[in-house]
Amino acid sequence: MRVISTVAEMQAICREVRRSGKSLGFVPTMGALHEGHLSLVRSARSHNQAVAASIFVNPLQFGPNEDFSKYPRAMERDKALLEAEKVDLLFAPSAEEMYPKGAVTEVYVAGLSEKLDGKSRPGHFKGVTTVVAKLFEIVRPDRAYFGQKDAAQVAVLRKMVHDLNMDVELIVCPIVRERDGLAMSSRNAYLTAEQRKRALVLNRALMRVQATADRGEKNAAALREAGKQVIGEEPGARLDYFEIVDANTLDPVEDISKGALVAVAAYVGTTRLIDNLVLHG
Ligand code: AMP
Repeated sequence: MRVISTVAEMQAICREVRRSGKSLGFVPTMGALHEGHLSLVRSARSHNQAVAASIFVNPLQFGPNEDFSKYPRAMERDKALLEAEKVDLLFAPSAEEMYPKGAVTEVYVAGLSEKLDGKSRPGHFKGVTTVVAKLFEIVRPDRAYFGQKDAAQVAVLRKMVHDLNMDVELIVCPIVRERDGLAMSSRNAYLTAEQRKRALVLNRALMRVQATADRGEKNAAALREAGKQVIGEEPGARLDYFEIVDANTLDPVEDISKGALVAVAAYVGTTRLIDNLVLHG
């Protein structure tokens, strides 16, 4: 695996890969890798002749009072994990390399960027779309791999790719969970053993919604109440949002007969966790 830290070198090597006729799959991450990330890498490895990953904790997508400085960083361990998955190229630039002094251009998906996580984290999705657009421009992958874990991010990125005619196929991979159902996240590392147990309430609430839907309930308000009630029963969790929306527009739906995305965000201690479930109509 080649580890590359400059834009110019990454661009040159990726250009060479494309010129040689190899298909190129790309997995952008913020590092502190877990099985969720590795599932994207494996998917990329199985579909493409060459695989690039990136590790970049993107300052632009963190709010002023968020966890940018304490976000877990584990570069040596991450390198070993990616190497074991037979990743060809790892792009790990510094913040100065990605955002040199004087850079002012941003990529912003209006509307969608203010929904779900975008509502509670102003500026977050603008940071995501700006960095992903830059990474796409640097790597120019045939396919890029993202997790369903960040369902709103997927909707925003799909819209960006569509609106800007970006020549890349987005592949969305299923949520990878711990054995007890907790969605894997680099932020789970912040949780104490006690909080880790309380964090299970997110998945439990989604399961309640699924069970209620399985019994024939189609009304989104009723399903939402069922889910919110579960969160309310866990004193260690503070709800941020619990929404039942169209997976593309992220707008609330009235009933789930055409399918819907059930998305939840909650704080356990100071750690903000998200999870979601796709209901089929
Ligand atoms: P992050 O490092 O948190 O920015 O995540 C990098 C990519 O991994 C994103 O596309 C995430 O959606 C994806 N990802 C993170 N956690 C999971 C998970 N538990 N299952 C599947 N994909 C995930």
